[in-house]
Amino acid sequence: MKFPARYGALLCWLLLFGLGAAWIGRQDYLRQYDAFFQGTSIAQRMLSQKTVQHEAVLATLAALSHPPAPERLYPSLRPSLPQLLGLGQLRDGAWAGSLPPPAGLDAAVAQARAQGRPVTLPVDAARYWLVAPSSWSLLLDARQLLQDGDFPDALANLSLSIGPEPLRLLARQDAGAHGWTLSLQKPLGAASQPFALRSERVLTPASWPWAQWLAWAAASALLVAGAAAWRRGRAEALRQREQARVAAMERLGTLGEMAAGIAHELNQPLTAILAQTRAAERMLDDEDERPAVREALRASAGQARRAADIIARMRALVRPSAPAAREALDPEALANSLRFLREQELARQGVRLAWRNDAPGERPLGDRVALEQILHNLVQNAVDALAGMRAGAAGQGLIELSGAVDGDHYLLSVRDNGPGIAPEALPRLYQPFYTTRAQGMGLGLALCETLAGAMDARIEARNLTPAGACFTVRLPRAGVRP
Ligand code: ADP
Repeated sequence: MKFPARYGALLCWLLLFGLGAAWIGRQDYLRQYDAFFQGTSIAQRMLSQKTVQHEAVLATLAALSHPPAPERLYPSLRPSLPQLLGLGQLRDGAWAGSLPPPAGLDAAVAQARAQGRPVTLPVDAARYWLVAPSSWSLLLDARQLLQDGDFPDALANLSLSIGPEPLRLLARQDAGAHGWTLSLQKPLGAASQPFALRSERVLTPASWPWAQWLAWAAASALLVAGAAAWRRGRAEALRQREQARVAAMERLGTLGEMAAGIAHELNQPLTAILAQTRAAERMLDDEDERPAVREALRASAGQARRAADIIARMRALVRPSAPAAREALDPEALANSLRFLREQELARQGVRLAWRNDAPGERPLGDRVALEQILHNLVQNAVDALAGMRAGAAGQGLIELSGAVDGDHYLLSVRDNGPGIAPEALPRLYQPFYTTRAQGMGLGLALCETLAGAMDARIEARNLTPAGACFTVRLPRAGVRP
């Protein structure tokens, strides 16, 4: 089965589109991931700065030799530290603060002193105490570290792990969003508050590069269609070149065939003219032979006309527009002319040419010159067949012309008592250049068939019993309404 070119083009387009779409998707993913990575890093840096700020505040408080009371200190710190919920300090073992002390303060102070830096005491998911070795402690609310608008646009969801439960710092995307998930986890930079910051963003179908895919689908379709059209055009040009080449070869072949055909056809009248004029020349000196000389010259002129007619006919044949002339023909006259031309010559070869009219008064419709040519050819073929045979077999050669009627047709037949048509030749008789004779050109019957076809006639060939061949020209019958 031939794979239709349409499917090939469709497959090409699918492949091209698939490859391009994958590349576009990958580029878009890389771009989105890059923005997400940058955004997460910025958020991590901003949060880290805030937590480092807490350490700086604690260090400053520890450095004060006469620090103010925490309740008085708190309102002054609050404007620059909105995340600060309270503060306090152990003074001589007693808690002094803007809020009650956290549980586990002593242990936290001990731990901070052991580590030489502040430690955290989580209160809940968002709040934690930051306890310094100096026992100065800050209660901080991580929710106030940054506002939603401070986070870069490329971020969706952020959470910070302070207590056992993570705190949601930013929630721009539903938890149930479906798509390609990007996630990153980074600890905050301050050594005392290394809370894990987790950033997540789902690349939902809404964020996929649909417009670019669509544009690529159209562009690749155009590309494939253009390539297919170019290929079609090239194939068409090739086909046309090939057709022109074949036509040129055919023309050459036809030309050769025509040339050989013309030579073949003209040979007969020219031979007859030669014979007649030679005979006339011989008889010229004898007064009594004058009528015969006149007759021979008349016959020569007739043959010359026939030769001219043949040439005209060949020209008409190469110009297919020229229609064959149709007229009611007299079979008797046709037969007589043929006999007049060939009888004597055939008699010398031991061949009798006879005429039998089985339908007197009936006439065929046709072109006189073409029909004469056909009959001449058929008679010549019969002569050739008889000549081939006489080398081996003795006996009188007989060629019989006959006219008959079959329904709306007039049949002109040429029979001989020769060897008959060879079985292998029967299906190829009308093929140009098919011949079984050493001297043959194989054009006679091909030409006869062409000439017959031009006047709506047909040639039929059959073998006779006990011997011989019969060629019949089936012509339209004159006087019959078509
Ligand atoms: P050519 O006469 O040059 O061979 P034709 O086309 O006239 O070419 O004939 C083709 C072939 O048909 C002949 O070679 C011969 O084999 C066969 N043929 C034609 N007429 C006869 C006939 N009367 N008897 C036997 N064979 C014939």
